[in-house]
Order: sequence, then structure tokens, then C-alpha cells
Amino acid sequence: MTEVIYEGGCLCGAIRYRASANPTRCMICHCQTCRKHSGGPCLSFVHFPVESFSWLGAKPKRFRSSAFAERGFCAACGSTISMHEEVLADRVQIALGSLDQPERVRPDDHVWTKSRIAWFDISDNLPRFPGNSPAVPSKALDD
Ligand SMILES: [Zn+2]
Ligand SMILES: [Zn+2]
Repeated sequence: MTEVIYEGGCLCGAIRYRASANPTRCMICHCQTCRKHSGGPCLSFVHFPVESFSWLGAKPKRFRSSAFAERGFCAACGSTISMHEEVLADRVQIALGSLDQPERVRPDDHVWTKSRIAWFDISDNLPRFPGNSPAVPSKALDD
């Protein structure tokens, strides 16, 4: 059996990480908090099982963005890296764009589409949810 490895990191390279399992989930979030965190029109997070995941260099600096979650970024270059939710402690949520090969991951759905920028047109056939997806018990974005 071939070993599964995903790697990625921040823009400056201070943060590097490796996951040795396939992601359990990938969502594209259209909420305002994700927009502010990333600077982009939306933000996609890939969920890796926590036991498969390791930080290789510096760890992300964390900012508490709500009562339920912290946002991780590189203290040196500011890259958006991760999200950490107490209710989802079984996984590490990694910003899709920080992966070295983001094309290997397929998104499952769009969440918080009620906050989507009107001109940001979605033309795929993925499920869309106005708020959180029922796939996860997340409360992190519900504020
Ligand atoms: Zn960096
Ligand atoms: Zn969001």
C-alpha cells in the first residue's frame, strides 16, 4: 500500500506541515470571518485527522476569532494557515491554498452561502448550505 502524504506551508516557509492520511472533508466557506482571515472572497479548509498531522517547522500563531474557534497564521509572513475548533478537536483544519498540491483535494460543499459576495458566482454542482453544513457539529462561524 502506498503511503499517503500531503504537505504544505506558508508563503515564507517558516511553517511547514505534513499529513499522512487523506482528508476527511473539504469545504468552501463564504462567511465574513473567513473573508477577513484570508483576504479573499471565500476560504477553503481541508480537514485532516489530528493523529495523521504534524507541524514540521514553526507552529501557526493563533488568534481567537470567536468563542468557539481560533485562526492560525504565520507570525512571519501573515499567511492564512489553519482553524482550530474545540468541538472539532479530532482534526486539523488547513487552509486549502497552503497545500503544495491543492488540486489533489476535492471540496465537498459550500457553506455560509448566505454571506457570499453577490458577484462571486458558483458554477459547480456541490451542495450549498446557507450556514454551517450538517456534516460537522461546528459552531465556530455561527456568530
Ligand atoms: Zn510564513
Ligand atoms: Zn467561514
